[in-house]
Amino acid sequence: MHVAAIIAAGGSGTRVGGALPKQFLWLGGETILDRSLSAFIGHDRVTEVVLALPPGESVGKLRVVAGGARRQDSVANAFDAVSSSAEVVLVHDAARPFVSADVISRAIEAAAEHGAAITALAVSDTVKQITMEAGRRVIAGTIPRESIYLAQTPQAFRRDVLAKAVALGRGGAEGTDEAVLAELAGFPVHIVEGDIENVKITTAADLDRARQREPRLAVSRIGTGYDLHRLVEGRALIIGGVDIPSERGALGHSDADVACHAATDALLGAACLGDIGRHFPDNDPRWKGASSIDLLRQAAVMVRAAGWEVANVDVVIVLERPRIAPYIPRVREGLANALAVPVDHVSVKGKTNEGVDAVGRGEAIAAHAVALIVPA
Ligand code: MG
Repeated sequence: MHVAAIIAAGGSGTRVGGALPKQFLWLGGETILDRSLSAFIGHDRVTEVVLALPPGESVGKLRVVAGGARRQDSVANAFDAVSSSAEVVLVHDAARPFVSADVISRAIEAAAEHGAAITALAVSDTVKQITMEAGRRVIAGTIPRESIYLAQTPQAFRRDVLAKAVALGRGGAEGTDEAVLAELAGFPVHIVEGDIENVKITTAADLDRARQREPRLAVSRIGTGYDLHRLVEGRALIIGGVDIPSERGALGHSDADVACHAATDALLGAACLGDIGRHFPDNDPRWKGASSIDLLRQAAVMVRAAGWEVANVDVVIVLERPRIAPYIPRVREGLANALAVPVDHVSVKGKTNEGVDAVGRGEAIAAHAVALIVPA
């Protein structure tokens, strides 16, 4: 069976707030629209997907049509683009990104059998009819909840049924969903079980809830850091806050701890908070002789204040001599303490530069770091 899906994404979605229509807002690693689309593109019974977008917007490989002023105008435009061979046409709100494959299948089957069907939820609360008396809401009666269903999407129609519903809409009839137009056109519209997870994102609070309920969509951020200091006689060699016995130490205004400096830049970079030079300038007397492990600790505080948690940090120290392997457990522990994370979230590796370049000749020490942060 040829099944077409229309995704209605033509609206401006202003109730959520922000500069973008809600379907383009970020929901974890993808937009609300991406998530709705992939539910249909990935469904093995859906043959084609037509997307109604605000005029001027476009999305990759899809067949895209311009959305209209009202939802029903968007759907009508998209319906014109549906293949004439389609037997069943699904209509789905882009603002329902949590639709499941089972719900889509139920809608397809019911439409094929009955001509028109919507997914809907039974009501578990008692339902009251109200009237206004002197500006106050007063109960006028109790509606048997067995008679009430809350409409969701997808809604599914045989092609000929939706054609008549769309024609009625073009003739002036109004409907907040396609079922209304199908009802007005005289077709019985069946109900199939929706899904409580298939929520519609309408307000900013809906979006917050949607983001919270999908922790696997939480987006992590990564940052990278690099540092190099010259090695000279008469200086201590401090790596990750650990004083390592060495003939030469790193030269710098601070303790010239490359591991801390690279890790600090990686953290700040992940959170888009600038770099170590901006926050701890080496010409500022406050940081002269500062312990770099404290700068790292301070950077972690800033990252947390910006709403992130430190997931892990990986550091590579490039140093010709001495061998730092024996000190690595203490270095990891020191970095983990500064970051306030368990020690198994911090990795430190030592390498030599195989005698090549300044680092290889023992004239300098370098460090590379990456840091992963996740929403707190
Ligand atoms: Mg440095």
